[in-house]
Amino acid sequence: MDFNDTPEEAAFRAKARAWLEANAPRKYEGGADPEGGDGMAASKAWQAKKAAAGYAQITWPKEWGGAGGTPIQQVIFNQEEANYPVPGNPFQIGLGMCVPTVMTFCDEETKKRFVGPALRGEEIWCQLFSEPSGGSDVAAARTKAVRAPDGSGDWLISGQKVWTTGAQFSDFGIVVTRTNPDALKHKGLTMFWVDMHDPGVEVKPIHQMSGGSGFNEVFFTDVRVKDSQRVGAVDDGWRVSLVTLMNERLAVGGPTGTGWAEFLDAARSVPGLDGAPAIKDRALREKLADWYVATEGLKHTRNRTMTALSRGQTPGPESSIGKVVSALQMQDLGNTALEMLDQYGIINDPALAPLQAAFHGSVMFAPGLRIAGGTDEILKNIIAERVLGLPGDIRVDKDVPFKDMPTGR
Ligand SMILES: Cc1cc2nc3c(=O)[nH]c(=O)nc-3n(C[C@H](O)[C@H](O)[C@H](O)COP(=O)(O)OP(=O)(O)OC[C@H]3O[C@@H](n4cnc5c(N)ncnc54)[C@H](O)[C@@H]3O)c2cc1C
Repeated sequence: MDFNDTPEEAAFRAKARAWLEANAPRKYEGGADPEGGDGMAASKAWQAKKAAAGYAQITWPKEWGGAGGTPIQQVIFNQEEANYPVPGNPFQIGLGMCVPTVMTFCDEETKKRFVGPALRGEEIWCQLFSEPSGGSDVAAARTKAVRAPDGSGDWLISGQKVWTTGAQFSDFGIVVTRTNPDALKHKGLTMFWVDMHDPGVEVKPIHQMSGGSGFNEVFFTDVRVKDSQRVGAVDDGWRVSLVTLMNERLAVGGPTGTGWAEFLDAARSVPGLDGAPAIKDRALREKLADWYVATEGLKHTRNRTMTALSRGQTPGPESSIGKVVSALQMQDLGNTALEMLDQYGIINDPALAPLQAAFHGSVMFAPGLRIAGGTDEILKNIIAERVLGLPGDIRVDKDVPFKDMPTGR
């Protein structure tokens, strides 16, 4: 492992830092609120500014508006950008997962139509994979696409997706459909891009316990799409989905700080059960020691990933460890903080008590983070099989045609 910037990386960091210093906002203007109000305008304006300067997707080729840079340069820019109160980023799913899938599998005309507007933040994309019957098992998708009976070659899509982040303000989406129920479940899927404003697409925001509506149910009723909207070959949608999912694992990542500094400040100033500062409490100190050990372990795992990126290598499956550890810690730390703050812990008003509100935010957000982009259990399966080399999970439906699976009826 090498923790220091190479001379080239240091030069890139200095350049990015200078650009951010001159261009990044000094005050948080909101961003990407579900209703698409002022916050959305701030997010779009910041994205357009980054695109014009070549910082929107640093690793993309120059011909597609990127900078032809390295993954480590993108990491460096993200680190530097995190020092500024930039608006929320509703483009992550589109630029991190959907558009790269379109770039891999679609023709030049389609790429020319979509890549630029997405990069500049003019159009937003969503990922329509999960269904009410299950999200971990994407290959069990039931939403179906059949050829239109009029012989036009068009397709009609019907079914339901769920947990679709940002669908309510998205212009386009990529959707996994079942096109061949007679084939094995991984073999009868096809991916399409869809216009979210087309007739037959109905988006219903889901109200979350946090008060927000980050994701949605999406219903498709005979939505007509052209054959040219197909992403990849007919019945090859599983392979296409894997490209999206691989990008998702890299894009979702995990939180880094988890409020450590704020927690320690609070623990030093609020009284514990015996009246002494809470940080003197033995049970709390045990927790702190556990978190410290996990954080240090994670830091070294991340450094391994960074070193691989820096050397132009692809990080291995050990990057799945990051989200499992940090999301759980975020939840535990938030819960412990609110308990420690006792009656003041129930205040969830950022204007009145910003610290408490921030811990409330962690407590509300962490359960979702433990599910999104692969649940704890799914990631632990990956770690067991691909990092530790343990025997594979038993997959009883692998060789069964989809229509014969109990879920496919
Ligand atoms: C914040 C957030 C944003 C999201 N955004 C999107 C989005 O934009 N687009 C989209 O398509 N989806 C999205 N999702 C959905 C997400 O991908 C799914 O919730 C996730 O894949 C899990 O699927 P599920 O909720 O249907 O649970 P299920 O797959 O039904 O799993 C239920 C439980 O069983 C466990 N389990 C399942 N299979 C196994 C196994 N093989 N071994 C051990 N345990 C197992 C799971 O870990 C879980 O605890 C989002 C979810 C969240 C929380």
